Amino acid sequence: MANDKTVSSVGEFGLIEHCFKNLGRSDIPGVGRGIGDDAAVLFVPRTQDLLATSDTLVEGVHFTRDADPRQLGWKALCVNLSDIAAMGGEPRWYLLSISLPPTTPLAWVEQLALGLAAAGERYRVALVGGNTTATTGPIVLTISLFGVVGNGRPILRSGAEEGNRIFLSGTLGDSVLGLRRLTGVDRGACEKGMVDFLLDRHVRPMPRTELGMALVDAAVARSAVDVSDGLLADLGHVCAASGVGADIHLEKMPLSLAARQWLGDGDGDRWRVLLTGGEDYELLFTISPGALDQIPAIAEKVGVPLTEIGVITREKGVRVWNSGKPLVLSDAGFKHF
Ligand SMILES: [Mg+2]
Repeated sequence: MANDKTVSSVGEFGLIEHCFKNLGRSDIPGVGRGIGDDAAVLFVPRTQDLLATSDTLVEGVHFTRDADPRQLGWKALCVNLSDIAAMGGEPRWYLLSISLPPTTPLAWVEQLALGLAAAGERYRVALVGGNTTATTGPIVLTISLFGVVGNGRPILRSGAEEGNRIFLSGTLGDSVLGLRRLTGVDRGACEKGMVDFLLDRHVRPMPRTELGMALVDAAVARSAVDVSDGLLADLGHVCAASGVGADIHLEKMPLSLAARQWLGDGDGDRWRVLLTGGEDYELLFTISPGALDQIPAIAEKVGVPLTEIGVITREKGVRVWNSGKPLVLSDAGFKHF
């Protein structure tokens, strides 16, 4: 289709047919009826529980019109995938509800769909329905994602116990450093390869789906959360849900080479950025000390480093230690309101 077309020139059904229908994938199990009926028909085996999550992206709040729509499509699906990963589930199906101004270029929606298709391919999830509406307001994109996990096996935030060891996957803070580059907060000399790495970590999160599923398989995780609001805020959610506290140690924190260079001598303000920045989409989980010897095999199996960063305590609150000295931090992460 020509690139000067808008969504109003193809209409709702044209848009679905042209952009979204091929996101329906025929290789995903459990789809009795996907796009094209009044509702999707989905099958969940009796041995599994259904997981459901939803996330909304609003133009002007979560993205700008000049953002790359392909990256937006990837990220919109991946933030939902990360929530299913945190529960240890296998992602399966999603619904897409999108409100578009009639003047939105068709090419914008095509690119968005390509980003969704790439994430759907990588994480094996199918679009099974949704809704398309015209709006006089900003673009609004809501994805609801469904996954499955063995009966009674989902990893909850509320299972952390005193003495549990706290683990973090991947590396901390790359995404917020990418965002700071993108928005011009951080300028100045930095190796191009490092900048590209940080930007990629911000716009192209890689949900830890395989890790979540491996933690369920091995039955080792007592609690888990994905790091979306910032490590301190999300660890705080686990502690609040479990009625416990935590000590974490900065010298143990897994950092990329780029983040380590940016951190330099590691003053408190810079640590605060890494600990509260958010959008890491890594998994934070706790295990009992008896399960420690299983962690290296899981890390190897899923190809993601897993680092012990602290311990769950009976005393409530999250305490951050910098080489044995307490680090006082005021702001504990992203707040939605
Ligand atoms: Mg989450």
